[in-house]
Parts: sequence; structure tokens; C-alpha cells
Amino acid sequence: MKTHWKKLTNPNYLGAYSIEDGKDLILTIKSVREEKVTGTDGKKDDCVVCYFYENVKPMILNSTNLKMIAKLYRTNFIEDWVGKRIQVGIEQVRAFGDIVDALRVRKIIPKEKESTIPCADCGDTIQPSNGLTAEELAAYTMKKYGRKLCATCATKAAQTVKDGDSHADE
Ligand SMILES: [Zn+2]
Repeated sequence: MKTHWKKLTNPNYLGAYSIEDGKDLILTIKSVREEKVTGTDGKKDDCVVCYFYENVKPMILNSTNLKMIAKLYRTNFIEDWVGKRIQVGIEQVRAFGDIVDALRVRKIIPKEKESTIPCADCGDTIQPSNGLTAEELAAYTMKKYGRKLCATCATKAAQTVKDGDSHADE
């Protein structure tokens, strides 16, 4: 499928112009579907459009980006892409006899969102651990120990609970 250059600047969709300061966007896929896209010239075309959980415009996925997502997550089924995170940035591509800025899905799976939750015991930022996100770990330790703890302090807290008797002598 060819992409009309005007699609790259369609204000209804995510474009290179959506990226400020050249900083990549980390986006979570909500749905992917084919739909008619009206270009700025009024022409309608069938395009694959990706919607995100984040508060951004939907993104038209060209075959390069579609293939990249399929490769990153090792599945060709768009239903399996829901909830997956992608990193989108600007790449200069040769097109229309010129060099233009295009949106590209980066060849990396974005890391979990940086946690900003401090550990109540050591003050360090709580990091994802044992398959739990920082948020889940904070919620878990809050419920269990009444305070948000990092993995290290949670282990210590578990030990303290176990040694409950000796703890009283301190
Ligand atoms: Zn800690």
C-alpha cells in the first residue's frame, strides 16, 4: 500500500509533528483496525490505524511499522498486540525524491514506566521486581505491611514478621 505524502501531515493522526523536542513517545496499544482515512486532500483510503490508551491521536501504521510490531512481539495477530507497549520516534526517510520525517516504531520494547514511588523504609525508588510492577509491589506491601516498600525492604519486612518475638527485644 502506498502512502500519500499528505497522510504524513494529517492533523487527525499522529505524525512527526506530534513529537516535541524529538523525544520518543511510549505508547500502549488499545486497538488496531483497518478504516477509511480521509486525507487532507479529501481522498479516502483504507489504512491500518492504531489507537492508544494514552491521550494521543491514533497512528496510521504503514507496513514497515506493522512488521516491526509483529517482530517485536512475535505475533502477526493484531488482537495479540492489545496492551503491548511500543516506542515511537522520528526517523528521516527518503520519499518523494526528498528526505522527510516519518514516524517509526523503534526496534525495542519499552521498559516499564519509570517508577517514582519511594520506599517507606530506605527512601529509594521502588523498582519492578519478581514480575510485579513498581505500582503492584507498592500496593502489595501497603496491604501486607502498611507501607510501600521496595523489594529489598519487603524481604526484610517479611523476615521481621517471621522473627516477631526477637523483634520485641530491640
Ligand atoms: Zn527500601
